[in-house]
Amino acid sequence: MSVDEKSIEERQFELDAELRRREMVLKEIDSSRTGLTTAQASVAGAVLALLSGIAGAAVTAWSTQTVEADKSVNALQIKKTEVEGNLALEASKQTAAEKLERKKFETSLILEAIKTPSRADAIRNLKFFVAAGFVADDEGRIKGLSDESLPSIGPPSVFGSTSSSDRDPLHLHPELRNKIAVLLQNLKAEGLQFEIGDGFRSPTVQLAFFAEGRLDDGPRITNAKPWSGMHNFGLAADLVQIKDGKPYWGPDVSGYKRMHALAKELGLKLQEAPFADMPHVELDNVSISDLRAGKYPAGGDISWAKHLAWTIQNWTKVVSAIQAWGPDLPNAPTPPSASN
Ligand SMILES: [Zn+2]
Repeated sequence: MSVDEKSIEERQFELDAELRRREMVLKEIDSSRTGLTTAQASVAGAVLALLSGIAGAAVTAWSTQTVEADKSVNALQIKKTEVEGNLALEASKQTAAEKLERKKFETSLILEAIKTPSRADAIRNLKFFVAAGFVADDEGRIKGLSDESLPSIGPPSVFGSTSSSDRDPLHLHPELRNKIAVLLQNLKAEGLQFEIGDGFRSPTVQLAFFAEGRLDDGPRITNAKPWSGMHNFGLAADLVQIKDGKPYWGPDVSGYKRMHALAKELGLKLQEAPFADMPHVELDNVSISDLRAGKYPAGGDISWAKHLAWTIQNWTKVVSAIQAWGPDLPNAPTPPSASN
C-alpha cells in the first residue's frame, strides 16, 4: 500500500506515534542541560534509526556505546511494529510545528556530533547523521565539509566580539535558533530570502552603540546599556531581507511584513514599526530582570550557554580590571594635528 492510499486516520495515527517518539527523545536530550552524553546520543541515534526503518547496520555503526543503546533498542523494537512507513511521512507536507521539532532534533544531534575533540571524528559523525537521514542536508553543505570548515565552539576574546554584527547562530539560544531556521526555510519556500544580520551582541558592542549620540553629536541609536537588551543574551536576532544579493531595507516592506506574519506563527515576538526595528525578532515571555538574575529560558544548549557564560565572565574581568587599574591608567596623550 502506498502512502497515498493510506487513510487519513492511518496517517494521523502514524504522525501521532512519531511525534510521541520525538518527544521522548527530546525529553532525554532536555534532561541534560549541558547537552547529550555519548550514551544518550547513541540512544537518540538508535531511536531515530528505528523511526527511519534503517535500524540494523546503522545503529551498530553509530556508536561503540552499545550497552545503553541496546537496552533502549530492545524496548523500542516492540514499539517499532506499531509504526511502519514513517519515512514517507518525512516527505509529506509538514506543519511549522513539526518542522520545528525536526529542527530541534537536528540541532541536538549536530551539536553532539561536533563535541568530540577530534575534528575528523566530528565530521564523520556529522556525515553519518546525514547519510542515515537524521539530519537534512539539502544543499550538501555537510557532505562537502572539510576539516578546516568545521565550526568549533571556542571562547570569545576577552573584550567580547568587537564586530558589530555577530551572525553566528550557535551564539543564539536553541529555541530562537531553531525557530529562525524554520522561519528562514518557510520564507525561502515563498521566494523570500532573509538572513541573520545581527544576532548575539557583546556587551562591548552594546556599550559602543550606547555611546553613539552621547559621547558625540550624532543621533542616538539605542537606549539600552550593556546587559539590558535581548541581543546581549543571545535571545534576539535581526533578520535582514536579501534582494539581488544585498541587504534590502525598503521602501517595499512587504517582505518584512510577510516575515513578521510567519515569525508570529512560530511564537516569536516582534518589534513592530517604526521601520528601523522591522528586522528584529526575539523570544517571547522573557524579562530582562529575570535574565540578569540568572533565570534563563529552558532548553539552553552547550553552545549558547558556554558562549554567554564566557562573555559574562569576560565582562566581569574587564570591568573590574578597568576599575582596579583606574589610578594607574595614563592620562590621554596630546593629539596630533595634520600639517596641512
Ligand atoms: Zn534587534
